[in-house]
Amino acid sequence: MLPLFFTIHNYMQYFGLVSSEVAMKSCLIILFITSLIFLLILSITRHVNKSLQLCTLLGVILLFYGNIKELFQFTLHAEFISRYSVLLPFVFIIAIILIVVIIKKRDYRQSNLFQNVLLIIFILIDSVVLIFSNKDRVLVENLLAKNEKVILDSLSKISSKPDVYYLVFDSYPGSGFLKQYMGYDNGSFDSTLSDKGFYVVKNPKSNYNRTVFSISSTLNFQYLDNINKFSAVNPKLYNQALLTVKHSIVPKFFKHLNYNFYNLSIFSINDMQPIHKESFLTISEKKVLLNNTLTERFKKDLLWTLLTGKYTVGFLQKWFNKTEVEIRNEQLQKRDYNNAVIDSVFKIPSQKENLPKFIYAHLYLPHPPFFYDENGKENEIQHIINNDSSRKKQLFIQYLKYTNMVIMQIINRIKNAPNKNVVIIIQGDHGFTDYEGGPNEPHLFFKNYSAIYFPDKNYSTLYDTISNVNTFPIIFNKYFNTKIPLQRDTAYFLRY
Ligand SMILES: [Zn+2]
Repeated sequence: MLPLFFTIHNYMQYFGLVSSEVAMKSCLIILFITSLIFLLILSITRHVNKSLQLCTLLGVILLFYGNIKELFQFTLHAEFISRYSVLLPFVFIIAIILIVVIIKKRDYRQSNLFQNVLLIIFILIDSVVLIFSNKDRVLVENLLAKNEKVILDSLSKISSKPDVYYLVFDSYPGSGFLKQYMGYDNGSFDSTLSDKGFYVVKNPKSNYNRTVFSISSTLNFQYLDNINKFSAVNPKLYNQALLTVKHSIVPKFFKHLNYNFYNLSIFSINDMQPIHKESFLTISEKKVLLNNTLTERFKKDLLWTLLTGKYTVGFLQKWFNKTEVEIRNEQLQKRDYNNAVIDSVFKIPSQKENLPKFIYAHLYLPHPPFFYDENGKENEIQHIINNDSSRKKQLFIQYLKYTNMVIMQIINRIKNAPNKNVVIIIQGDHGFTDYEGGPNEPHLFFKNYSAIYFPDKNYSTLYDTISNVNTFPIIFNKYFNTKIPLQRDTAYFLRY
């Protein structure tokens, strides 16, 4: 009964992130393991009821440890108790007491009845919510941003609708940061863009240090609700941010203006699927489900190196770890994804259409893994699957130069096309500090790249400290006569 509740409950909590297939499979595996544990305990106690209750107790601790921890940490604001050194012994003592109570007990009918009724009620509640909440309601409730700032119907008739290219280069740092911290002078790239008529922002800023949060705030031109500075990111927040991207206002806005939307990103946006789905969790779907279990918590929160192989539950971990082949294929998918996006962006400018276009392309460039050197020659596969190489400054700089080359090719295609009424945004969703010897100060995580092209080259509304959240208000106010107020330019550092 417990595994069933566990699966349904977590499936609900991470709605949309975990497919029902994976949920089912995990449920069966947990069921299988619980049965094994039960048989093990039975062979010791030789008493069915005792073993059942001991097994349930163990299951509650192992499976719901994270929930208990979060209850103390976030709901009751008792950070102290939620620490491992305190909570773990505490849980341990309670468990010992309960075990003694269970073993000494003679009559099990009452407590068994109580346990089962309780679980059935829990399962029923979650099931009812699952069945009766249609998908939309859950999604709307998950929004981190409220799209009430712009009333679409109030838009006046617009005569000129430029094509808008929103090109995100993941982790592209600002030239100031590159020079000061990485010893690389990106000045020639800046001046080439300036020569082509771009406004290269001197000191831009991203508003979040994580991709999905940064993008969801940019595409909604506002800061996200319920997220404070130094918030810790958990899968649930990720899930909400992903859904906020999905329902964000910028694509809706363009749709309302009869634009053709090209979703060349990693996100589902409205009803448009991405070419490559990225869950943004360093853990797989299965692990999202198991996020609150004691073993996963241990691995994530504590030095997991100490743990490998030491605990009897270690074999549970093996079930869920990725193999090297899987990792390699996953990385190669990113390369293929990048190339597919680049190909598509190349083709779009020359496509004749009656409708104006809004293109959102999101590239893992210069974001690791570093697939190419500066000349576009493929790096060795070891550089791609080896985690250490993603922290090599030299490889990053080479990949950055390759990125610059790609950006120039894209810009030339756009500029050589017949339609000259085109807005181009080149933007990093945050900076890059995750290299060997990289700085740790939070404010440096936001040092991103930002350059914008307007066909009339009138940049009076732009300024040199603009942050990503104000990108679209400035464009909309300029071209569509909206009066969207700008946000103050600040940043929210999210803890890992
Ligand atoms: Zn990113």
